[in-house]
Amino acid sequence: MNKITLFANAKINLGLDVIGKRPNGYHDVRMIMQTIKLHDTLTLKKIRKKGIFIKTNLHFLPTNENNLIYAAIKLFMTEYNLEGGVHVTLEKKIPVAAGMAGGSADAAAALQGMNQLYETNLSLKRLQEMGVKLGADVPYCLLGGTALSEGIGEILTPLPPAPACYCLIVKPKFAISTKYVYENLNLSEITKHPDIDRLITSIEQEDLTMLCSSLGNVLESVSVKEHPELTVIKEEMLSFGALGTLMSGSGPTVFGLFSDQSKANAAFMHFKVGPYGKQSFLTGFFQPD
Ligand code: ATP
Repeated sequence: MNKITLFANAKINLGLDVIGKRPNGYHDVRMIMQTIKLHDTLTLKKIRKKGIFIKTNLHFLPTNENNLIYAAIKLFMTEYNLEGGVHVTLEKKIPVAAGMAGGSADAAAALQGMNQLYETNLSLKRLQEMGVKLGADVPYCLLGGTALSEGIGEILTPLPPAPACYCLIVKPKFAISTKYVYENLNLSEITKHPDIDRLITSIEQEDLTMLCSSLGNVLESVSVKEHPELTVIKEEMLSFGALGTLMSGSGPTVFGLFSDQSKANAAFMHFKVGPYGKQSFLTGFFQPD
């Protein structure tokens, strides 16, 4: 095999709780992760020339070792003593720095692609061991689907597929730094934590209404204070009939879940013609085979 094309799916958090802070500054989390159908497309091609070469449709993305795809391929080639080089074409569709793990999803797809391209036949567990060196979300991106993520994000428990629905994604124009959000989260002041166990029950019972009423992200408190616009987006989604809305990860992406296709479409059209038009997507949950 000389060439392979892969999809790297974005994730959203149906729930995100922070339960503690470690002396090294890392936070202990409990998160419900869900991959969605929105994806980047990577094509990996073996070449004779030594090196890793990345071509992408987004001019502002790094194409050197600062790109997680580069780092993933380099790690793989070093660990398995591979000769030659790899050329990557990345068609980026997942909003960047948005709380949707776009870079981690690309890194996971690059590891999976290398595994197939070089017929190394590595297990998911082995790929995840490599992945965690690249980022805490990479092991989850290798797994995909619905999962509980604990520790710093590396302890994963697969869950049954979350109930199907329409998922409207809106990425506001401003950026929120993950570092800023975590640094400004004062755990001792948080009185209301998301109910992660109730979310798990709603998934097990395939109850979309219960799931939507249990959505929660402890990081919203920090981001909403800085950017009241997030509340406006959420209210607009609810006014169109969303059953629940939430900010994903450390933001700023907001999603709304709908059971009714025509309501979801109307909401999508509303955002499509607005200021966030280019970064609005109507999609659904993605469950790997
Ligand atoms: P998370 O949800 O894990 O916090 P994110 O959505 O906030 O991720 P990413 O889109 O993964 O953030 O990217 C954050 C930064 O990483 C970007 O500013 C970008 O410069 C860098 N980066 C490196 N490789 C990639 C990649 N393949 N795709 C996107 N960003 C990348």
